[in-house]
Amino acid sequence: MMRTLKGKISLIYLFLVIMIAVVGAASVMDLYGLSKAINGLMTANYKSIHAVDNMLEALERQDSAALIYISVNTEKGIDVFTENTNVFLRWYEIESKNVTESGEQTHVDNIGTYYTKYVKLFSSLQEIRNTQGVEASVEFYNNTIMPDFIALKQELKALSGLNETAMFNAKDRATRTARVSMYWLLALTAAAIAGGFLASRFFANRFLRPIYSLTETMKLVKSGDLNQQAHILSHDEIGELAAEFNNMTKRLQQYEQSAIGTLMAEKNKSLAIVKSISEPLVVLDSHYRILLMNDSYERLFDVREDKAMNKHFLEVNRNGELFDCISGMIESEVESQQKIVKLMLDDEEYYFNIMVTAVKGMDTQPSGFIVAFHNITQMKLLEKVRTDFIATISHEFKTPLTSIIMGTDLILEEEMGKLTIDQKDVMSTIREDGQKLSSLVNDLLELSKIESSKAVFHIQPCRLDGVIESSVKQFYQQAEQKDVILEYECEEDLPRIFADAEKISWVLNNLLSNALKYTNAGDAIRVSAAVKGGRMHVSVKDTGAGIPAEYLDRIFDKFFQVKGYDLEMRGTGLGLAVVKEIIQAHDGEIWCESRLDAGSCFTFTLPLADIDSEH
Ligand code: ADP
Repeated sequence: MMRTLKGKISLIYLFLVIMIAVVGAASVMDLYGLSKAINGLMTANYKSIHAVDNMLEALERQDSAALIYISVNTEKGIDVFTENTNVFLRWYEIESKNVTESGEQTHVDNIGTYYTKYVKLFSSLQEIRNTQGVEASVEFYNNTIMPDFIALKQELKALSGLNETAMFNAKDRATRTARVSMYWLLALTAAAIAGGFLASRFFANRFLRPIYSLTETMKLVKSGDLNQQAHILSHDEIGELAAEFNNMTKRLQQYEQSAIGTLMAEKNKSLAIVKSISEPLVVLDSHYRILLMNDSYERLFDVREDKAMNKHFLEVNRNGELFDCISGMIESEVESQQKIVKLMLDDEEYYFNIMVTAVKGMDTQPSGFIVAFHNITQMKLLEKVRTDFIATISHEFKTPLTSIIMGTDLILEEEMGKLTIDQKDVMSTIREDGQKLSSLVNDLLELSKIESSKAVFHIQPCRLDGVIESSVKQFYQQAEQKDVILEYECEEDLPRIFADAEKISWVLNNLLSNALKYTNAGDAIRVSAAVKGGRMHVSVKDTGAGIPAEYLDRIFDKFFQVKGYDLEMRGTGLGLAVVKEIIQAHDGEIWCESRLDAGSCFTFTLPLADIDSEH
């Protein structure tokens, strides 16, 4: 029964039921004792008193009968006396069977003796009256019968008094018994309450102890300590629960071990892959602390991973410029970015394309950043060789080309003699091609100068409206000839920009000449400038031919030209490439929005000279 929780709870109930039964039984017994005491009081003593009263009454009547006998009527006197003798004896018999008190028997015996004598004396009285007359009988009555009568009465009263006293004593006893019973019952009830309470507490504590222990273990397991096992303190339902709980934690432990094992294996695999990547790579957290680096990175910067772990990037790579470049990319909050930087390592120049990629976890904020270094030094060297080669060739071409153009000009002006029409045509073609070649050479030279950083930029605060106005003016005549509307609109009080005015004028000329090239009569070209987001935005917008969407991202590439235009419209394909280089050299951006047959809009941005003027 005690093996199950149900049994244990039933035991507590059983205990309480027994307590209630004991109190109930004690109450019943007390009540019974009390009623018995009262009953005794009512019956025995009362019966004796009642009998004595009746005996006294009968005796009084007999006494009267004796007097009637003496003085008035002998017959009636005898009848009344005999009648009451019977009454007296009946009650005497009742009383003699109802002796309950000590000393009562003596009184009963005395009464019996006195009464027998009294009856005998009445017989003697009859004899005296019949033989000696009334006077002698009166004297006999007074001297002999009366003392016996008085003594008998006194005995009867004593008997009544004895029973009365006994009755009062019985009443006191009953009261005492009732009081004692009450105290007993109170004590028993208090004992039952205290016993019930203590027993319930004792058993409840005993039965709940395994639950408390299990709860404590559960808390520890919840906080992550899967090694905890619940103590099995009982073999009831709670014991079973604890055993099942232990099984569950064991399974969880096994699962965690297997999950951690798999995760560790996966992590090691990923680490091995990262380590074996030939490109230098470092992983930083959001506070620029180093989380991981591969062998290639260690070799490149001559650092050791174990010494660099969790240290700030600047502590390990003491290169402020490199840090500025990386932090700039990270802070721009673009998911993946790249920038080319020049690094001096062992007194040698290296070029790296640095790529920063944000590592995103479960939340939207990146948990870290992968910084990969792609070595493009070789590519840069080759590019330099190519740029130098082009610069040299262009330079070598420039002088002969100038001579050819000047020579053909002179011949065409017929300074050296008249020309036939055919000769003029040939000479014109030579001059046109020469001019085209010359502009190509000029573009190539400009480009190679910018690329090899030989082009000197005089970047200083300057006014943009003047630059725009003079550029636009140069193209008014050509626009008029083509019947194209050319206008410009600038915000009033444009702030100054930080730029090389000559180079920006070159950019505007190039964009305007392209716009004119790809517009027809009735079209319009609009140049505008405004400040947006703290930068100057300049746009050259036309309603001309437009550019097919698939070419839009390539038009800034060198020598790229959109297919399908007339050959004579084609330039060198270098103009936009040079434009882009110049704008980038100003730390600006350039882009094109265009729709075929609807027109194009080229926009470039430039930094403002006065920070206060940003609006
Ligand atoms: P090009 O000397 O051939 O004009 P660019 O580099 O200046 O070389 O331009 C590259 C190409 O971009 C052009 O061949 C032309 O197809 C296209 N392009 C440039 N500007 C415009 C324009 N405003 N409208 C349409 N196409 C244009």
